[in-house]
Amino acid sequence: MEELNPFKIAQQQLDEAAGIMGLDRNAHALLREPMETMSVSVPVKMHDGNTQVFQGFRVHYNTARGPAKGGIRFHPQESLDTVKALAAWMTWKCALADIPLGGGKGGVICDPKKLDNNELESLSREYVRKIGKFLGPKVDVAAPDVYTTPQIMAWMMDEYSRLVGHNEFGVITGKPVEVGGSEGRFDATALGAMYVLREAAKLHGIKLKDAKVAIQGFGNAGGFAFELSKKLGAKVVAISDSSGAVYSSKGLDYKKLSEEKKKYGELGKAKGYEELSNNELLELDVDVLIPAAMENQITEDNADKIKAKMVLELANGPVTPGADKILFERKIPDYPDFLVNSGGVIVSYFEWAQNTQNWYWTEDEVNGRLEKIMVRSFSSVVDTQKKYADMKKKISPRMAAYIVAVERVTAAMKLRGWY
Ligand code: NAD
Repeated sequence: MEELNPFKIAQQQLDEAAGIMGLDRNAHALLREPMETMSVSVPVKMHDGNTQVFQGFRVHYNTARGPAKGGIRFHPQESLDTVKALAAWMTWKCALADIPLGGGKGGVICDPKKLDNNELESLSREYVRKIGKFLGPKVDVAAPDVYTTPQIMAWMMDEYSRLVGHNEFGVITGKPVEVGGSEGRFDATALGAMYVLREAAKLHGIKLKDAKVAIQGFGNAGGFAFELSKKLGAKVVAISDSSGAVYSSKGLDYKKLSEEKKKYGELGKAKGYEELSNNELLELDVDVLIPAAMENQITEDNADKIKAKMVLELANGPVTPGADKILFERKIPDYPDFLVNSGGVIVSYFEWAQNTQNWYWTEDEVNGRLEKIMVRSFSSVVDTQKKYADMKKKISPRMAAYIVAVERVTAAMKLRGWY
């Protein structure tokens, strides 16, 4: 059976990169485990008068290059190992983007759909009270992730500000603009992915005009990718959420589907399109497949059925190492999560920088700076693949991205005398 534990997968990926690059074994040992892990109980008084105790986590994976940075998930299937894996990927993501931040992540095991607004606010505030000593603009900067929102970030920032006795906007990013959020943050992850799509399409000779795109996930990342890919001339023919997928060979209408998703709460009830299962969506004959939902979606079981010409990992960890190998052998380029979805953390970095300077930028300034970093990261991956190809070693985009990131984190650890 293939390994599906996300942290073990993150370690396997690091081990593979370490082998290719001949990583120092002391640096390797340091990078295989998080530096600090916090596990907390989060009691919340529910509207029925009972107290429910939720379990929460916060992980600092590596801070050699700067404060820990990473989102907070509220999800029923959250686990410490998922949080550790995501914190590791944040470390590589910030290093690949070459921004002065380390890797962190947080999560609470809960189903926010079953909480009313007061309960959600209490949970958000209590979680921050519990992990407060682990947070701070110079220590650990949090952000939204799956099922957490700008409103939740505003409550968390407010609670942290109360703890320290002054406004501390820079403790958390992804806030509404009225309370220190950055212009351009809400669609930054998808916009960053579109720059990667543009560059990768050029490299692989895929014409974006009328290119067929399938997207798994219609949330913050997938929803904006749907809207933005149209601007590149591409045609989204299929999209899904947890209730199922819709398909049209002529292309789907973003506005109509957004309205129906809002109205019915799920895509499965949208009218006028062919229905597909999530697995069928992944196996469609398209130019570009964008997994934008959860981990472990393309595995050894379905990797040989993928017909897309290129995979862009907008979600974190959607492709398992076994599937990675199969896609690589089948010459389907698969651009890794910590490159493709790094737009979110890059604009989070801009938000943090704006908060600490009290100097705010326009959306054009934000997007222009984002584009430069995304193009630079993409080039560093392609250049590293070329460098290894010249040494007669063919490596995947994921391994090239790992090598760039691990070299940067290792250099910082070495200079600081950590090994
Ligand atoms: P979200 O909560 O806004 O949306 C998640 C979407 O996935 C929802 O539409 C949900 O219905 C759908 N979904 C859940 N399970 C599914 C399944 N089995 N099949 C199909 N769809 C399913 O979350 P998001 O912020 O869009 O995050 C999605 C992914 O992108 C996650 O892996 C997240 O870590 C990653 N990511 C997001 C950001 C960001 O800025 N939002 C940044 C970096 C990475």
